[in-house]
Amino acid sequence: YQKKRAISTSGVFSKELGSKLTREQFLKDGLARAIENKELSLSFQPIMASDNSEICAFEALLRWQKEDEHISPVEFIPIAEQHGFIRKIGTWVLNKACFVAASWPKPIAVSVNVSVSQLQSDDFITIVEEALLTSGLPADLLHLEITESVFSFDKDIMISRIKILQSRGIKVSIDDFGTEYSSLSVMQDLAVNTVKIDRSFVSRLDSSGLAIVQAVINIAHAFDYLVVAEGVETREQALALQKLGVHFSQGFYFSKPIPEHKVLQFIKKPCAKLTDDNAILTKV
Ligand code: C2E
Ligand code: MG
Ligand code: MG
Ligand code: MG
Repeated sequence: YQKKRAISTSGVFSKELGSKLTREQFLKDGLARAIENKELSLSFQPIMASDNSEICAFEALLRWQKEDEHISPVEFIPIAEQHGFIRKIGTWVLNKACFVAASWPKPIAVSVNVSVSQLQSDDFITIVEEALLTSGLPADLLHLEITESVFSFDKDIMISRIKILQSRGIKVSIDDFGTEYSSLSVMQDLAVNTVKIDRSFVSRLDSSGLAIVQAVINIAHAFDYLVVAEGVETREQALALQKLGVHFSQGFYFSKPIPEHKVLQFIKKPCAKLTDDNAILTKV
């Protein structure tokens, strides 16, 4: 237990084994073999419709179990991006997510996070098309989540690539909306399908943040985007967001991310709490 603790807390790790670099090297080496070692898996978090609390989609979230340590994507995704592993890992995620979603008993979309460097690579569209083809998942059940940062690089190429994906029927969302710079003109050129309001706004709903959330939702409505709220943790937040015009909600209040093997069970029978709260949500 002592040993496990020492490696899971990066601070302790740094002190004992040198520097932050050591931890980064350790993760970098591990990432190089994570797929071959079958250490990666996906969890799926439901995205619920505000009006009837039905499951509309699941977001695929990458998990890395390295020996007895669970490493957070918040820590390892940036390292995978910096060291050139994200394209290979991203392709694995896309294929896995499409295969799992194609196996669900009813049409529910799967939403996959895509890093900038994946979208930058010239074969990205081919990779996506192959994942759809081999899994048999209909294109309109695949949603791709990108961040505003894609527009800091080759803006025109990014926009045209996104348009090609959309012409195939794939839906594109802007993740963590409002946390990075994106000009209103880019928003207009881009015409994504959905924006996901970052959970930092949702968590401030009860205090001074209400006006900001309303403003962000108004911008999204002005561009005709569907709006997903991320990080919904309480019933009060879910109700307030529905009143503000949010179409979909995602967060621990509805469900934490679910391991792949338990998703089917969740689709067939969402937890009792959800069904109870359902009634409350639909009455608003
Ligand atoms: P994200 O795409 O914004 O995903 C939402 C994150 O918020 C997830 O963290 C999820 O578990 C967490 N979350 C959901 N509901 C709640 C809530 O009610 N409260 C709180 N406190 N958190 C909530 P996770 O799984 O640790 O992923 C973190 C980030 O790592 C993701 O943020 C995404 O940026 C990145 N990521 C995860 N999987 C992938 C992937 O396959 N590819 C890429 N490129 N990035 C990924
Ligand atoms: Mg996301
Ligand atoms: Mg997000
Ligand atoms: Mg994110």
